[in-house]
Amino acid sequence: MRDSFGREIDYLRVSVTDRCNLRCIYCMPPDGVEWKPHAGILSFEELTALCAVFAELGIRKVKVTGGEPLVRRGLPSFIAALKRTAGIEQVTLTTNGLLLGEHLPALLDAGLDAVNISLDTLDPVTFGRITRYPYHTENGAPANKALEQILSALRSASSAGLRVKVNCVPIAGVNEEDILPLAALARELPIAVRFIELMPLGRAASFEGLNALEILSRISEGGVFAPINNGDSSGVENRVLGNGPAVYYAAHGWQGQIGIIAAISRGFCERCNRLRLSADGYLSPCLSSASKTPLRALVRGGDERGLPVSRIPAARKDAILETIRAVIFAKPQSHSFSGIYNIKTEHSDKTMWNIGG
Ligand code: SAM
Ligand code: SF4
Repeated sequence: MRDSFGREIDYLRVSVTDRCNLRCIYCMPPDGVEWKPHAGILSFEELTALCAVFAELGIRKVKVTGGEPLVRRGLPSFIAALKRTAGIEQVTLTTNGLLLGEHLPALLDAGLDAVNISLDTLDPVTFGRITRYPYHTENGAPANKALEQILSALRSASSAGLRVKVNCVPIAGVNEEDILPLAALARELPIAVRFIELMPLGRAASFEGLNALEILSRISEGGVFAPINNGDSSGVENRVLGNGPAVYYAAHGWQGQIGIIAAISRGFCERCNRLRLSADGYLSPCLSSASKTPLRALVRGGDERGLPVSRIPAARKDAILETIRAVIFAKPQSHSFSGIYNIKTEHSDKTMWNIGG
């Protein structure tokens, strides 16, 4: 379905949990957050049934996110169910990678199409500082082990034939020195390493993100890179790129690519194709928008106990279709992260662990 600005909306990001096994400094408070009550979280049956309704309106790609999606039990079966849903062509996952190795065989069996692994550093001390893993690091050892786990899962996923992207959010004074070593992962592996401008949401507003030009100048110390798309990878013949908003670069002799997502300095709202669904069933048309439309009561037909729903009855489905259409129609023309960086308060009620990035 097209929105009122003519954009085709075919991509849904589904957060399956607000829980996480990390506490990234730009995302979560040190002591975590008060988790949403279990009964308020949509069951996998409800989410699958809801995604089938989205598919009727033209959603073709679903990204499963969180919190940390792999902390929710039964995730591979949910992915398999999405893959069986008529109209849904692609199911991908965004994870911090800690539990990826453990679940990789089941995810491959489920038919997962691609995985994004969030990794902001290859240095154990910086990893501990950013993720607070294991929340009170006394020495480098535990973070070291966690990093090894993530990198090993990354290599296994790539060699198993899964499309792999690494996502890093560069932050001034925190992981600037990690940009080049992370980028170099794409020299040896056929993966895309992407750098995302920090969005001033919630806790992130108190950090200063690097902008695309600053990131590029760091990367260019590692080789001569040429752009291979312009933030629209649809025409580019490469199985790694997908259809996201990144501008990709390649260098001679590198197996993979480097991507830059200039969400703030350049923006890509004119091509935005996505909606976001939170774990408790709120639908949001834009990361920066205050609007969130509750779908849970519609899915449950007013029964808030959260009974399993494998198919939504026709009358309820019509109401859901109408509600989703209205959200798509009201999708704003662009995000409102106005002052580039250092917006301390404007979006402080919005959090990435809740919306799923
Ligand atoms: N836990 C999973 C993970 O880390 O991949 C999925 C959820 S996490 C919120 C999704 C992505 O959002 C991560 O890559 C994270 O780095 C990114 N993220 C979180 N806060 C951000 C911010 N303020 N600006 C840009 N990206 C952010
Ligand atoms: Fe957890 Fe992902 Fe947020 Fe880090 S960015 S705290 S891994 S949800």
